[in-house]
Amino acid sequence: MGYDAKFRIWRGDTDAGGLEDYTVVVNEGEVVLDIIHRLQATQAPDLAVRWNCKAGKCGSCSAEVNGRPKLLCMTRMSTFTEDEVVTVTPMRTFPVIRDLVTDVSFNYAKAREIQSFTPPEGLGPGEYRMKQVDVQRSQEFRKCIECFLCQDTCHVVRDHEENKQNFAGPRFLMRVAELDMHPLDVAERRDTARTEHGLGLCNITKCCTDVCPEQIKITDNALIPMKERVADRHYDPLVWLGNKLFRR
Ligand code: SF4
Repeated sequence: MGYDAKFRIWRGDTDAGGLEDYTVVVNEGEVVLDIIHRLQATQAPDLAVRWNCKAGKCGSCSAEVNGRPKLLCMTRMSTFTEDEVVTVTPMRTFPVIRDLVTDVSFNYAKAREIQSFTPPEGLGPGEYRMKQVDVQRSQEFRKCIECFLCQDTCHVVRDHEENKQNFAGPRFLMRVAELDMHPLDVAERRDTARTEHGLGLCNITKCCTDVCPEQIKITDNALIPMKERVADRHYDPLVWLGNKLFRR
């Protein structure tokens, strides 16, 4: 049985904007993105929203629903009561382009700052061998769909524009950790995690883990282990000596 739901959607652009009220029909089994599409089809044809797969795998339809970072395609209408007003706003951490669409180029700039996978010199085809346990460790991080919800919720940049230059954010600190854990990667990452990617600014509140639609344990399995590796390098005298002698 369908019902009329009350929606409040942020409309605007880089110059100005505000919340606008709509009443939209909701049918059984629908998600918030269905309602946005119905709004476009019936009342607001110029409403801008970014989306693609509608299956929780492309990471495009990231926004905030009732103030929580969410994928619009994975947020079921059944999680709200029929008399609840559902508020949909663009991701707050990134500049608005129009309506629900934000400019997420900050993330691509951060991705480019990370040195790519660097194998030892002279390793030939067929010699890239690693243990299954090492394969499995990075498998979790590889589930990332780059929705940037973790970047959006991270308070280091959400309320502090001034930190953006010096902080890669959870998604990209996780990438640094993944590469540092890779047994065939020889790049120096522990110093740069601290000096270039701002690992020290993360105070492990786990907000990123809470919003990840892939349930990646970003804090426990990437950020905390990376902090431990950095601390070992700098503060454990035996590791420090070993690093001086053997460098990894
Ligand atoms: Fe999205 Fe999770 Fe990847 Fe962050 S780690 S970008 S929340 S899938």
